[in-house]
Amino acid sequence: MPQYNFLCKECNQEFSLRLSVSKLDSQKCVFCGTDSLKIVPNNSSNILLENNTSGEHLEKYISETKESIKEYKKELSKEWDL
Ligand SMILES: [Zn+2]
Repeated sequence: MPQYNFLCKECNQEFSLRLSVSKLDSQKCVFCGTDSLKIVPNNSSNILLENNTSGEHLEKYISETKESIKEYKKELSKEWDL
């Protein structure tokens, strides 16, 4: 199972979990229980710390990551007829 890093928009906590792609959308913050989570790409914590002002690039990267997850899910559901 792939591991994902999440950043909570409510309490700003970061955590990582191993979960299947189908659970991504319904994942809630383990600290406060909100579902306002951002998926943070692995290895990005350094970028976040060093490059606080250029979040735009990261946003783009995250939305691209989300897009590819969507595509991946589509492929999966085709394959497994979910
Ligand atoms: Zn939270």
